[in-house]
Amino acid sequence: MNKALVWAALFAISLNVSANSLQDQITKDYPYLDKLYKHLHQNPEISFQEKQTAKKIAGELKELGFGITTNFGGHGVVGVFKNGDGPTVMVRTDLDALPIKEQTGLTYASKKTQKDRDGKVTHTMHACGHDIHMTAFVGTARRLIDNKDKWSGTLIMIGQPAEERSGGAKAMLKEGLFEKFPRPDYNLAIHVSADLKAGTVGVVKGYAMANVDSVDIVVRGQGGHGAYPQNTKDPIVLAAQIVQSLQTIVSREISPLEPAVVTVGSIHGGSQHNIISNEVKMQLTLRSYSNEVREHTLKAIKRMTSNLGRAAGLPEDLLPVVTVLDEYTPAAYNNPKLATKLIGVFEKTVGKDNVIELGPEMVGEDFGRYGQVEPKIPSLMFRLGTVEAGKFKKAKDGKLRLPTLHSADFAPDPKPTIETGVATMSNAVLELMAKN
Ligand SMILES: [Zn+2]
Ligand SMILES: [Zn+2]
Repeated sequence: MNKALVWAALFAISLNVSANSLQDQITKDYPYLDKLYKHLHQNPEISFQEKQTAKKIAGELKELGFGITTNFGGHGVVGVFKNGDGPTVMVRTDLDALPIKEQTGLTYASKKTQKDRDGKVTHTMHACGHDIHMTAFVGTARRLIDNKDKWSGTLIMIGQPAEERSGGAKAMLKEGLFEKFPRPDYNLAIHVSADLKAGTVGVVKGYAMANVDSVDIVVRGQGGHGAYPQNTKDPIVLAAQIVQSLQTIVSREISPLEPAVVTVGSIHGGSQHNIISNEVKMQLTLRSYSNEVREHTLKAIKRMTSNLGRAAGLPEDLLPVVTVLDEYTPAAYNNPKLATKLIGVFEKTVGKDNVIELGPEMVGEDFGRYGQVEPKIPSLMFRLGTVEAGKFKKAKDGKLRLPTLHSADFAPDPKPTIETGVATMSNAVLELMAKN
């Protein structure tokens, strides 16, 4: 063996030792994290009501020595740990769950209910995996504090409320997240994936998640007896025409090379067979990547609805009303340089075969907001596989349909998922804040 080979072998061994020691620490810590995960899974709180969840996360960080600020932008939690000179890295977890009745049949399934904002009692479930995010977040904090001799800089760890209603990131930024606390040089976050195998991670370079807008349309008419349509202006027929016409925005007005979605997700009108109603209500979700496509789609919806109303003979004061809700989520952009760097880190952590490069999707995530504040902060949200290996194989062979995120059946395989989340996020932070 020549000298270079000996050095290469020694270097490889030393790398393995350090990789193994982190892995060993995570394995040892897993019972603690498992308990935390099951607690969070059984106690889900919906958007804007994450009071106990925030308290739990704040308590975990406080115990590790973080300076804690609570009730920041709603139920937001900000933890700051200063560990000498160096870069500031922000790690974000979301806190909220969904109004869904869990049907996984797990022994630790959620049985919780909460009142929603209309005062209606609803079942709650972590059907988007935010309980996994929180557990991996706490696990990462525990590893980084135990290994604080290996990094230098300021670590900011935030628990963000109301991701599902797209209000949390905006509220925390508005309250002064980047002014009252050290401004990050990097932002990092995890989101689970319902189609990647547990033990793997997925990374998108560049645009990863879409612009999201919610739009309400109220189609008005002049109601009456179902037997005398000639004396009415039927809003149901007009609404049907509007739904059809909206489909031509994406197919006829937007370049086939530009991603866009117009989905009418809800339509309600009328009360009985023989009554022509006065009103139909619709709820739409819009997705896009570019600002031009977003603005064109919003304008086209207004143009089509009002002109179809005119074509139906409605007077100007009864034309459909289009409201763009204040729930806009901007597209999430993964800084390509940061993504490339961390792909290298992830490959060392979980092996090359377990790091998958993904393409962009039309889902939305308000984590994107943290990277958009000028001057823009390099940010990365990576995907964490959750699917148990046996189920993953069956699904690949076409023998099983995997539940999606937001499904009552979504059930991650906790151990490999959480361990991989802690290992990849800890190593990502260690890489960005490594002591020279
Ligand atoms: Zn979600
Ligand atoms: Zn989510």
